[in-house]
Amino acid sequence: MSTRKAIDSFIRNEKEREIAALADRLAETFAKRAAIHDQEGSFPFDNFADLKQSGYLKLTVPKEFGGDEISLYELLIAQERLARGDGATALSVGWHVGLMLHYRYARFWPEELYARFCREVVENGAMINHFASERATGSPTRGGRPETKAVKTDGGWLISGRKTYSTLSPILEHYLVLASIEGRDEIGDFLVRKGPGVSVEETWNTMGMRATGSHDLVLENVFVADEDLVRVSPLGKRGQQPNESPGWQLHIPACYLGIAFAARDFAVHFARTYRPNSLPGPIADLPHIQHQIGLIEAELTTSRTLLYSVADRWDKNPEERTALKTELGLVKYVATNNAIQIVDKAMRIVGGASLSRSLPLERMYRDVRAGLHNPPMDDAVLRNLAQLALKEE
Ligand SMILES: Cc1cc2nc3c(=O)[nH]c(=O)nc-3n(C[C@H](O)[C@H](O)[C@H](O)COP(=O)(O)OP(=O)(O)OC[C@H]3O[C@@H](n4cnc5c(N)ncnc54)[C@H](O)[C@@H]3O)c2cc1C
Repeated sequence: MSTRKAIDSFIRNEKEREIAALADRLAETFAKRAAIHDQEGSFPFDNFADLKQSGYLKLTVPKEFGGDEISLYELLIAQERLARGDGATALSVGWHVGLMLHYRYARFWPEELYARFCREVVENGAMINHFASERATGSPTRGGRPETKAVKTDGGWLISGRKTYSTLSPILEHYLVLASIEGRDEIGDFLVRKGPGVSVEETWNTMGMRATGSHDLVLENVFVADEDLVRVSPLGKRGQQPNESPGWQLHIPACYLGIAFAARDFAVHFARTYRPNSLPGPIADLPHIQHQIGLIEAELTTSRTLLYSVADRWDKNPEERTALKTELGLVKYVATNNAIQIVDKAMRIVGGASLSRSLPLERMYRDVRAGLHNPPMDDAVLRNLAQLALKEE
């Protein structure tokens, strides 16, 4: 684990130190299980039992419902550290804790349903994720119309369709499902419960993030009561309210930076201790190794500085959140691309041994790559930046 843990300059006070310590403890345990879950592509139920028991699942729930109501900045400290132990578990639980933070700020759930669900999280360790992706529509960020359909029936809705990339699907009992409302130019977010008509098809067999259980969720005429319809939005206008800033999505770059940080630690330790008999000392003394380490430090520090400074602004200036959208995208772009570069450099430092499945670097190399396919996508971030620059005159 990180030698920098104790002197992380992004930790500003005692509360943040406690949150970091909680995540470090969990990460240390998860790191021991990560290789086997990755190898088998198994869902880490053991990690989630620990997360529940430690109170991690309620970190972002409002205090009025028994949660800890931590800020975005505090959440990122926890998530980044968790990912140093196991990226797949951090990304998976990140959707839940991130979304609970989002719902707390955006407050688009019907009050009573929201209060009930928050209590479910606090009292029973319930979790949630949002299932929007589909094979035909691809990334929901592109604005395609969901093929999953909601048809009105007595007292509620019947939902049918298939969601891809359904992270956490092996463990969830509640899902927020995006569906087109039949006969209307509207889409709805429906709170679906595990039950008749709901099944998980185990399609997730990928090179990276193998232990996220991101299988297909299949819905066949699943009944959702009227009161479990969370909201309806006009097609193409979902998530565009002023209080719906996607700050919560910073759990994604925090995760990939956590993986990069762990790769960095591994490589630095290796450089300090590996002493081939062709050299008088460790490879850490060699100029080309120090050059690689220097590049890693530059990329990691730049990315973390950007991540935490934008999160701090997001927390402190609610009126600025809508305008921060470009910076939020920039954080994701810089952090995930740098994370890929950092893991690559860490492997160059370690050399051929980095390819070994008995070391964690090759898993980090595969896991970190998934960041490119989480939102927002690189082309959208760059287009946004370009359009802002072109508008300047
Ligand atoms: C580990 C992991 C976990 C995930 N978890 C979840 C989850 O919990 N819930 C969820 O809903 N989703 C989840 N996703 C899915 C994710 O949000 C994307 O929907 C998914 O990765 C597909 O995105 P894509 O860009 O590859 O697909 P597509 O949108 O199909 O794009 C494929 C290619 O076509 C291009 N393209 C397609 N349409 C356009 C367009 N309109 N304009 C420009 N270019 C276009 C893209 O740039 C890309 O090159 C997860 C993904 C991963 C990798």
